[in-house]
Amino acid sequence: MIVVMKPGSNQSQVEHVVKLVREMGLKDHVIVGTERTVVAVIGDDRFKDRSVLETVDGVDKVVPILAPYKMASVEVKKERTVVRLPTGATVGGKSVGVMAGPCSVESRQQTLEIAHAVKEAGAVALRGGAFKPRTNPYSFQGLAEKGLEILAEAREQTGLAIVTEVMSIDQVKLVAEYSDVLQIGARNMQNFNLLSAIGEQRKPVLLKRGMSATLEEFLLAAEYIMARGNEQVMLCERGIRTYEEYVRNTLALAAVPELHRVSHLPVVVDPSQGTGKSHLVDCMCRAAVAAGADGLIIEVHNDPEHALTDGAQSITPKMFAEMMASIRRIAAAVDREV
Ligand code: PEP
Ligand code: MN
Repeated sequence: MIVVMKPGSNQSQVEHVVKLVREMGLKDHVIVGTERTVVAVIGDDRFKDRSVLETVDGVDKVVPILAPYKMASVEVKKERTVVRLPTGATVGGKSVGVMAGPCSVESRQQTLEIAHAVKEAGAVALRGGAFKPRTNPYSFQGLAEKGLEILAEAREQTGLAIVTEVMSIDQVKLVAEYSDVLQIGARNMQNFNLLSAIGEQRKPVLLKRGMSATLEEFLLAAEYIMARGNEQVMLCERGIRTYEEYVRNTLALAAVPELHRVSHLPVVVDPSQGTGKSHLVDCMCRAAVAAGADGLIIEVHNDPEHALTDGAQSITPKMFAEMMASIRRIAAAVDREV
């Protein structure tokens, strides 16, 4: 439930509500809005007596949160969340943040070359996997810590924030030391213990939608992270499994406005995993921005033919620069900036 305070209610009234919520064995989350303050009550409140809170001084009303996810819901927070990277760049709000880089960190030279190219074209963050979730155990698994060191050097040289995947709980500490955004891959969207561990971190998270997850399951995964206190979650639509064969995954762009309707979290689109085809990436970037995406994450490779992972969906730095020019025009048309 949400306790909506009256406009002009004071600090001690809010504190009293918080105290009562804790006495009920529930968690509180105070959100100070521009017009009024609300206290979101988190936990299983089905058998709690709402009238206790309704009569407190300064309380306007107590309303149930209808969605199964709470912290992620627009019912709890009306203002859209803007994720701020340590570099100062933002994802959400007016700006569409573009994250780009190779699928995997393959070598120092490859990563640095791509990092400089995407920075030059206007990316705000460098993506690149050091730990790779591979279907085949004999495929390239990533450079692990060596890959993280290369990413850190790329950050130093370019000033780009680093986005990289963390696959297991035992990697969280290490990956968090090197990266600015923790990526949770599609295959781990319902790894609930990992989500909770990420929730203990105080770093932005890029949460990929599972390839067969409904939007409700996706938002409940975000809730796992937020319930532990990490509220900087970006939802990433990366395509879902369908019967289609002309694409690797079917990029469900209607998820962007639908997620915006039910959640305040920024929505990022990944047209690389989302199509699996480099010739489809540019168009889908434009479509994503037109649909209201708050960010894009794109695979860029300086030599896609020889990429160790996902070469077929990787665009070249030249294609990336052209794509950036075209999405700037789309962004302007929908009152956004790239
Ligand atoms: C990736 O970004 O390279 C990746 C493995 O993504 P996903 O988890 O969406 O498949
Ligand atoms: Mn990839």
